[in-house]
Amino acid sequence: MIRNNGKDDILILGAGLAGLSAAYHLKKNYSLYEKEDEPGGMTRSVRKDGYVFDYDGHLLYFRNEYTSLLMNKLLDGNLAPHKRSSWIYSNGSYTQYPFQANFYGLPSNVVKDCLVGLIKAQTSAPKSDAGQNGNFENWMRNVFGSGISEFFMLPYNRKFWTIEPRDLTCDWMQGFVPVPSLEDTVTGAISNSAKLHGYNARFWYPVKGGISEIVEAFSRKVNNLHVNKKVITLDQYRKEVIFEDGTIKSFKKLITTIPMPELSKILVDLPKQVKQAFSMLRFTSIFVVNLGIKRDDVTDKHWVYYPGDNIVFYRTGFPTNFSVDVAPPKRTSVYAEISYSDNKKIDKDKAIADTIKNLTELGMIRDEKDIELCLPMDIKYGYVIYDSNRNKAVQIIKKYLKRFGIHATGRYGSWSYMSMEDVILEGKEIAECLSIS
Ligand SMILES: Cc1cc2nc3c(=O)[nH]c(=O)nc-3n(C[C@H](O)[C@H](O)[C@H](O)COP(=O)(O)OP(=O)(O)OC[C@H]3O[C@@H](n4cnc5c(N)ncnc54)[C@H](O)[C@@H]3O)c2cc1C
Repeated sequence: MIRNNGKDDILILGAGLAGLSAAYHLKKNYSLYEKEDEPGGMTRSVRKDGYVFDYDGHLLYFRNEYTSLLMNKLLDGNLAPHKRSSWIYSNGSYTQYPFQANFYGLPSNVVKDCLVGLIKAQTSAPKSDAGQNGNFENWMRNVFGSGISEFFMLPYNRKFWTIEPRDLTCDWMQGFVPVPSLEDTVTGAISNSAKLHGYNARFWYPVKGGISEIVEAFSRKVNNLHVNKKVITLDQYRKEVIFEDGTIKSFKKLITTIPMPELSKILVDLPKQVKQAFSMLRFTSIFVVNLGIKRDDVTDKHWVYYPGDNIVFYRTGFPTNFSVDVAPPKRTSVYAEISYSDNKKIDKDKAIADTIKNLTELGMIRDEKDIELCLPMDIKYGYVIYDSNRNKAVQIIKKYLKRFGIHATGRYGSWSYMSMEDVILEGKEIAECLSIS
């Protein structure tokens, strides 16, 4: 064991965007440690045969002026705005996202059921457990009515979350589910509405390279970044971190962005109540089938959602429509995302075969010989499942860690539904807090 008691006050574990943002904003000595051989975490990109695939589709959305200015400054001209072209495939037709504001073009019985359900929901008194304190299914039935819930919201969310929507709380939504006005929904039921709804109506993507351009831009401004440093023990009592290579580092304060469930394996002598809280954390995993196709006329859409259970993936995206730089000329790149969890197992070989079969049925693949690259990716921690235990468990764990000067941050570190912008802001917030304490 090599004990290395340097002068750093603060250690940051994990160099994804949350850790990089914390490092960028800290005004004290720090060291940043990453287990992989490169920083970036979920915002890395993989380059193969002239294609660039992100660790699943990653687009930048700005709700906050600070992040917009920071990203534009760091990327220095390498960031382009786009107007979303996102769609839902159901009942054999494509309608614009979000479903609840656009069902023009669907069979007339579907349009009628969706409209009648919506009007009934909006004109009847809400049930006591149907607000944002109730479960997700009751909330959607109360807000959108039975038609929209049964044709889209329920099947899509069942497929995406891998559990019943009634077993989810509403705590994750914070603007992720658009709620259009009755007038907008009626307009979108009788015509092709041009109005864009939701937080992701516009997005930004690097002109050159993939989403990892953000990571490279941050990394250029960050010191003391150490890769290939996997933490295997976090001794909260001795305030020491032990790495896989045998080195030990002590700390006064520590920011961890390591996925929360992994902490239960590396912390020492946890009290029973905290162990129990860790055992409550649930999540979905994502299996991504990336394909390179030798045609450039596959689609002009950015991404498409699929509620039907006759299609294996819940969403496909087309990175070559975000940037022509992510594939060789006259090519299309496609990612297809499949959710799985303890509750819904996956056979990965079958998922690849089914993806190709479904894309062929949808007319996106005309000839299997056009597939020149197949690059599957497996993302263990995809989305935090907000069931009725999540809030209490996270509260117990965070409170316990804070006693030892350990701050759990980032999407998986603080076990939350957060975007890239959210984790950049959270990294900034913790850095500012520790810079003055
Ligand atoms: C499928 C999917 C699609 C998404 N799409 C978008 C999108 O379009 N737009 C958007 O804004 N957001 C999107 N997100 C969210 C976005 O990816 C995250 O908010 C953000 O990347 C999380 O950053 P982080 O630093 O918190 O976590 P991570 O990126 O997971 O970083 C944690 C880091 O810790 C490291 N680490 C883990 N264990 C150890 C250890 N023992 N020792 C040392 N290091 C360790 C990891 O290697 C990793 O680098 C998406 C997420 C998913 C899952």
